[in-house]
Amino acid sequence: MKNYDADLIIVGGGLVGAALALALKNTSLSIILLEGREPVLDFDLATWDQRVYAISRASRKLLTQIGAWERMRAERLSPISAMKIRGDEPNAKLEFNALESGVDELAYIVENRELQRALWLELASSPNVEIITPTEPESLVIDHDGATLTLSNNRALQARLVVGADGANSWVRRHMKIDANSKPYEQFGVVANFACEKPHYGAAQQWFKSDSILAWLPLPQQQMSMVWSCSENQKDELLRLSAEQLAAKIAQAGSKALGELTLVTPPAAFPLKLTHVASCVAARVALVGDAAHTVHPLAGQGVNLGFGDVAELANLLTNTHPERIGDVLVLRRYERARRESVLLMQTVCDGLQKLFNNQNSILKSLRNFGLGFTDSLPWIKRQLIRHAMDS
Ligand SMILES: Cc1cc2nc3c(=O)[nH]c(=O)nc-3n(C[C@H](O)[C@H](O)[C@H](O)COP(=O)(O)OP(=O)(O)OC[C@H]3O[C@@H](n4cnc5c(N)ncnc54)[C@H](O)[C@@H]3O)c2cc1C
Repeated sequence: MKNYDADLIIVGGGLVGAALALALKNTSLSIILLEGREPVLDFDLATWDQRVYAISRASRKLLTQIGAWERMRAERLSPISAMKIRGDEPNAKLEFNALESGVDELAYIVENRELQRALWLELASSPNVEIITPTEPESLVIDHDGATLTLSNNRALQARLVVGADGANSWVRRHMKIDANSKPYEQFGVVANFACEKPHYGAAQQWFKSDSILAWLPLPQQQMSMVWSCSENQKDELLRLSAEQLAAKIAQAGSKALGELTLVTPPAAFPLKLTHVASCVAARVALVGDAAHTVHPLAGQGVNLGFGDVAELANLLTNTHPERIGDVLVLRRYERARRESVLLMQTVCDGLQKLFNNQNSILKSLRNFGLGFTDSLPWIKRQLIRHAMDS
């Protein structure tokens, strides 16, 4: 019988790869987790991460099950109690709140680095996970018996299955020549954090403007995190502003809904793209997270989709005989189970982005009417919010 270094090698220890390793920690599977960067477990608590996520209730459930949720410090988390969405006409609005939806909160805002830290702390007490970092694979060879990954130091590792959790520009995906159709939105997500003059009461706010989408997400200590999805020119203009000018511009763009703002975390920008992959599995290979799909951040669902992959793949691997975990026929069950949710989210986000990034006056009236009409239908609103919370 062949000797494997591990049953499973996960390439990429970002949020999704680390969560997958943890989701398999109480199984008989042996796991090697490869990560290109040293994890950061200590950071200045007086500062706030530029990158924050709206974590859905379904993702929170997964993070609780794998032991990461409790490791996050309560004072770094912010529950979302309401969502206020505005169109590009004065009365076009759609509002959701937790009370009406019969829940305590709609989602949680969590810093990227705090969640990453929680996952890595929990990984340290997972005896079946060997972590190798910093390292990157140099080659991957698949044959009938298994997968052989060779690292930059020439160490060769053999496993039954390799999972690519290595982000939107996935090395595993490229190395396996899995086709990925990537469509840039010609938009950037500009992120920054601000202290607010007025309390936000846990409300997330979003403005669908005719040329961009602005979101304010509640942070602890009367602060908020901004994501402005805008054109390259707008991005360049925002990044050129002084701290005071930027704060004034953002306050104005959100109609001073939280009064005057003060910049607390300098801005950064990320290019936005939509990625469809031809297949997220192959013999002895599976892709999860951004390696398998990317979406526009307007619905804040990117990492939630990745955690959905983790729940599905971990469930499949746990219930499959270890000898068969690299079998493409088995892995296709994971692909089928995820296809609908991923495609639905990509289609909705892409459709909304196109609908609002359009100057046509008929479309403008329709989209604003659509927001107001949906707002007047409590049943439809409840279904929409249930889907967003539980996906
Ligand atoms: C502006 C913006 C706002 C967003 N807001 C939200 C939000 O509110 N909610 C939400 O759910 N999502 C949001 N997203 C999406 C979210 O950031 C991603 O979906 C999520 O980070 C994907 O996680 P991942 O672990 O799959 O990939 P990544 O976070 O990219 O992690 C990949 C990991 O693999 C490692 N790696 C890469 N290549 C190699 C290699 N060759 N060898 C070893 N290691 C490697 C990297 O170092 C990294 O640690 C947003 C995205 C953007 C751009």
